[in-house]
Amino acid sequence: MPGESVSLFCNLSNEQRAAVRIAIVANPHPADVAALPGLVWVQSLWAGVEQLVASLPVDGPPIVRMIDPEMSRTMAEAVLAWTYYLQRDMPAYVRQQRERVWNQIAYKKPSSITVGILGLGSLGAAAALRLNEAGFNVAGWSRSKKTLANVHTFSGNDGLIDMLHLSDIVVCLVPLTSQTRGLLNAERLHAMKPRAALINFARGPVVVTDDLLAALDSGHLSHAVLDVFDTEPLPPDSRFWHHPGVSVLPHISAPTDFDTAAMVIAGNIAQFRLTGKVPGSVDTARGY
Ligand code: NAP
Repeated sequence: MPGESVSLFCNLSNEQRAAVRIAIVANPHPADVAALPGLVWVQSLWAGVEQLVASLPVDGPPIVRMIDPEMSRTMAEAVLAWTYYLQRDMPAYVRQQRERVWNQIAYKKPSSITVGILGLGSLGAAAALRLNEAGFNVAGWSRSKKTLANVHTFSGNDGLIDMLHLSDIVVCLVPLTSQTRGLLNAERLHAMKPRAALINFARGPVVVTDDLLAALDSGHLSHAVLDVFDTEPLPPDSRFWHHPGVSVLPHISAPTDFDTAAMVIAGNIAQFRLTGKVPGSVDTARGY
């Protein structure tokens, strides 16, 4: 982008700060963003923007989040990989190997398993498509009702309970907002099928930790694959580390890809220079 000047915040003089129009940010200090009085928009490197929404002023410049087809592909791949892990009974075989048990568990076809996805946005919709292609039955829940080929779609609180009732595996891909914090609480975890499994690739606080542990301890849920937590890194004393019904991942299901993310941002900037229009931004009242 030869027409653009790109600098690190710490290298900018006061005069240069005043001239900045676009800030490309990860987890910025709010005072740094406030030190750029001429900002027209803030480009996030992350798809999840709950930290930015919480830390930047409501009447500040619009926030544009990362929407990258490569991130959607990576997340869909992760959802399929861990769905296969559960479908092929890997948690049970890991336990059996530890105990030197030779026991063949009856094979379950993908077509006999329903995967319910919470959130049908850029990531959830891509995951739904990938699961469909692999032969799983797919259901999905979103705030506004969606029409997606071969996906049984739901919305609203009753729709959520209906989807939880019929899913063998529930995949969480909703953003963290005031509406989704604590979404999967005791009542909703209880609405899941007995021996169902949970994959949380969204944000830790969407699931109530103690309620999830209780559902796993009682055997109501068979397993949880967790990539995200209330506190990250996961503290050493967390019960999740050694719970036999939990697979712990260190927030790696869909990392931002530097090359493709740079292309997405360059495209957003080029479009802005051409049209003067800020790319589609986050609705701060809605939180995503
Ligand atoms: P997105 O495109 O904004 O989609 C969000 C989806 O959630 C939409 O379908 C939306 O419904 C639905 N939703 C939001 N609030 C809801 C509510 N209260 N009730 C029901 N449905 C609701 O977001 P995305 O790009 O798919 O990303 C989703 C999240 O994944 C991010 O916010 C981030 O937290 C997480 N993430 C995690 C990783 C990782 O490595 N673990 C990587 C990237 C992203 P509508 O369609 O009706 O708006």
